Amino acid sequence: MLAGAAGEIRVGAGFDVHGFGPGDQVMLCGVAIPHAHGLVGHSDGDVGLHALTDALLGALALGDLGSHFPADDGRWRGSASEVFLRRAAKLLAERHGRILNADVTLVCEAPRIGPHRKAMIDRIAEILGIEQHRISVKATTTDRLGFLGRQEGIAAHAVATVWLPR
Ligand code: MG
Repeated sequence: MLAGAAGEIRVGAGFDVHGFGPGDQVMLCGVAIPHAHGLVGHSDGDVGLHALTDALLGALALGDLGSHFPADDGRWRGSASEVFLRRAAKLLAERHGRILNADVTLVCEAPRIGPHRKAMIDRIAEILGIEQHRISVKATTTDRLGFLGRQEGIAAHAVATVWLPR
């Protein structure tokens, strides 16, 4: 893919937090997980896909999620967040770029991520149209410290590496 083609490697980072609210499941990295709460947000509140979308937009230097999908625009209320990720992937494809890898870290005490990790990786790979081995989903806690430790919400960090032709 890279051999012989003039291009450059670029890295983008993303971060997002959503608070818990009423509900019985959370959407994380495109997978519905049963939980004692839902996530509040103008879309489905999927922090994993939001952080990953911002990482891709960051690698492209094309603004952020909020500038592409304004929170005060009612169109995105209740949206599946894969819509946002697909848009970022389309912007990359329009520049003839490729995703080399993406790494998402979910930060929460609950729900447990491990049992859903493979489904999340499969889902992200499907949305982006790339191989599963290019996607990583990790989980950690804050050792019960702070707002995440008090289980007030979930945070996600993401890093994406892309190749762009010159
Ligand atoms: Mg968000």
